[in-house]
Amino acid sequence: MAEHMLKFVSVPQSTPEKRQANERRVDFDEIYRDFATQQAAEQASRCSQCGVPFCSVHCPLGNNIPDWLKLTAEGRLEEAYEVSSATNNFPEICGRICPQDRLCEGNCVIEKGFESVTIGAVERYITDTAFEKGWVQPIRPRRELAQSIGIIGAGPGGLAAAEQLRRLGYQVTVYDRYDRVGGLLIYGIPNFKLEKEIVLRRWKLLEEGGIRFRLNFSIGIDATLAELRAQHDAILIATGVYKPRDIGGPGSGLAGIVPALDYLIASNRDNLGDIVPEFASGALDARGKNVVVIGGGDTAMDCVRTATRQGAKSVKCLYRRDQANMPGSMREVKNAQEEGVEFVWLSAPEAFLGDDHVTAVRAVRMHLGLQDASGRQAVEPIEGSHFNLPADLAIKALGFDPEDLPGLFGEPELKVSRWGTVAVDPKNFMTNLQGVFAAGDIVRGASLVVWAIKDGRDAAAKMHQYVQQAAVAAAAE
Ligand code: FAD
Ligand code: SF4
Ligand code: SF4
Repeated sequence: MAEHMLKFVSVPQSTPEKRQANERRVDFDEIYRDFATQQAAEQASRCSQCGVPFCSVHCPLGNNIPDWLKLTAEGRLEEAYEVSSATNNFPEICGRICPQDRLCEGNCVIEKGFESVTIGAVERYITDTAFEKGWVQPIRPRRELAQSIGIIGAGPGGLAAAEQLRRLGYQVTVYDRYDRVGGLLIYGIPNFKLEKEIVLRRWKLLEEGGIRFRLNFSIGIDATLAELRAQHDAILIATGVYKPRDIGGPGSGLAGIVPALDYLIASNRDNLGDIVPEFASGALDARGKNVVVIGGGDTAMDCVRTATRQGAKSVKCLYRRDQANMPGSMREVKNAQEEGVEFVWLSAPEAFLGDDHVTAVRAVRMHLGLQDASGRQAVEPIEGSHFNLPADLAIKALGFDPEDLPGLFGEPELKVSRWGTVAVDPKNFMTNLQGVFAAGDIVRGASLVVWAIKDGRDAAAKMHQYVQQAAVAAAAE
């Protein structure tokens, strides 16, 4: 092992080349270039092959990171791909968009002093190479099972579950109200973080593996949950969370104040070549405008960086806490700053100014007060500190809540938490309705792609158990 590994002392950390800010701010292409083969092997060889790998412990999927790093360092990429894809349905996606600084890489033991192994970039490199070489093949179940599974939602949670269940031989149908597969991977997360080709090739592969997709099909409109239950042996609800948190106050009804996801979906659709009327009319296009994005999470970062690429006159991010207390990934904040976004920290909106259309956001300075019960510092306005920021487009990126699923699905019995997320038995992912399971953001609240994949995989295992037990019980009757 020593020949190939433990090189962190002699080989410095190097990430795949990041395109210059002035080049990347004029297009929607991914900002990181690919690792060259030699660089990937070298970077993988920095791993010290820890007995207790904290990187894996802090990867929600428990990926076998030291093993695939070692195989990469040794040039055994096909085996690295086998190991990496055994625990993760979409390693090339996680490699691109996981907040590695908070997960695997942030817990790599060589982080202190030598800078972590670039785990995400190697993970992405392994599976991108596997696609290039034709090692990624559609599912071919060893046997076909008669039972069928219905999955509501083609986001990462639903897709991971669909793949796991199809592998076991189930007849799997995924329903989605959108016209494309991927959920937030396709319409939420912008191209510069995750090129859409990456998502579209997974869709094709899943279809080739025998998973059926019924798109433009909304549960609650085109069918009730009860109708779906009658058609399938088990159901998974993986519908994500989409109800935007709103800001009230004077002027909040003016034109030009838009929810973040409407804005991002229009941009993603435009990039995919769709005709988007709200984009063509300019209502959801930042070109030539002063843009103010309100919020400090990853969605806000995606909005400011999209506005920059659309050719906005100015882009400001208004956040009521300071940089150290931002919920968004530090890497994305840095990328946004490099691309010319101005951050207005410790400031909150009070009112929107304008006659019919917004012309400015009136804000007030905040200061951080004492910690609350959750350990977060409270924020309080500083009296008399008002100021106006010019804005022709104000984007609200304050987070998302679940829709009213019992109402929407025509299933008042479906139990939800006090936040509206679907309540499941944590031991088996089943809701209070027999044979109806749930996973991903609709259970956790807005979270991460890697957690949706993890939940989708775990729920699939429990659904398999449930369907098989039901089959045994039926045979015994
Ligand atoms: P979703 O991806 O939301 O998929 C749910 C699917 O269900 C959708 O396709 C929807 O159309 C469908 N659906 C909903 N209701 C119905 C219905 N009634 N009938 C039929 N279909 C329905 N996470 C990261 O890890 N890294 C990031 O960089 C990152 N960036 C993000 C940027 C933005 C702008 C946003 C909003 C989120 C981001 N996230 C990121 C979070 C991540 O995208 C989500 O945690 C993840 O997609 C959740 O997966 P899911 O499968 O539970 O739901
Ligand atoms: Fe790291 Fe995410 Fe990959 Fe896990 S899935 S190893 S957390 S990048
Ligand atoms: Fe390698 Fe870092 Fe993981 Fe240790 S923590 S096994 S050094 S990647």
